[in-house]
Amino acid sequence: MSILNADLHCHSVVSDGTLTPEELAARAHANGVQLWALTDHDEIGGQERAASAAQALGMGYLSGTEISVSFAGRTVHIVGLGFDIHNTAMVQGLQSTRGGRHARAQDMAAGLAKVGIHGSFEGALQYAGNPDLISRTHFARFLVETGVCKDTHEVFRRFLTEGKPGFVSHRWASLGDAVRWIRQADGVAVIAHPARYDFTPTEEYALFTEFKGHGGQAVEVVTGSHSAAEAIEYADLARELDLAASRGSDFHSPTESHTDLGALPWLPGDLTPVWELLQHRIQ
Ligand code: AMP
Ligand code: MN
Ligand code: MN
Ligand code: MN
Repeated sequence: MSILNADLHCHSVVSDGTLTPEELAARAHANGVQLWALTDHDEIGGQERAASAAQALGMGYLSGTEISVSFAGRTVHIVGLGFDIHNTAMVQGLQSTRGGRHARAQDMAAGLAKVGIHGSFEGALQYAGNPDLISRTHFARFLVETGVCKDTHEVFRRFLTEGKPGFVSHRWASLGDAVRWIRQADGVAVIAHPARYDFTPTEEYALFTEFKGHGGQAVEVVTGSHSAAEAIEYADLARELDLAASRGSDFHSPTESHTDLGALPWLPGDLTPVWELLQHRIQ
């Protein structure tokens, strides 16, 4: 086992989490995290705060983000770790990726209005700590708060997934662009929570081989959204494709997330932990 309590995937109010970067740093540290990364969706606005908070606590820090990518007609998430947050291509790439979210949210609200749910754009915006980063999670919180659904999972199931009234298909970054932005900024690209995509084996193989072809180097093996069996499956794939392995809770909120910061199984010891590739980038 790789016994380093690394948690390299979570979200703050800068995207769709409910805690500030400082609150997350304190919670990660209290839970025993030794190496941490804040990975807000398509955003790096919280990176300097997260890095200083981690440093003040004596906890290692790697820069992070989770880029939304369109691949084979679906959305895939690519985590970037240890990149230079001032790199121009990276900064502009993230800006263009999140740029379509406002119009998308208005279309989502129009879809929800057709089934009698009104005012959801303004409602969701109230939950967004960052108005540039309005996400489905913010709509979900609004629909729970107004009593339409009992929890966010029910909202996604009934309203926000493909074929449902609030779902809007959207063109995110391409896989090649996302991986290249991360690489050019000296970071490592990681396929996030691979078991969460509904790909056929052929599509999944294409995702992994194209990702590697573009310069992608790692896969999340241990994550809050993998079962033990799924972690074993992707550990095998990491060995087969010679990819490094990452570990991250994908923590969003104390009340919504079932996996807390740092509270994850260890990475299998024979895999290369992603932080081995990033020793020189740890702050
Ligand atoms: P967006 O980037 O706007 O498409 O929102 C994606 C986010 O929605 C993910 O990062 C999760 O935080 C959240 N999400 C996606 N699916 C679900 C689900 N089934 N239940 C709860 N949250 C979900
Ligand atoms: Mn999220
Ligand atoms: Mn994700
Ligand atoms: Mn995430």
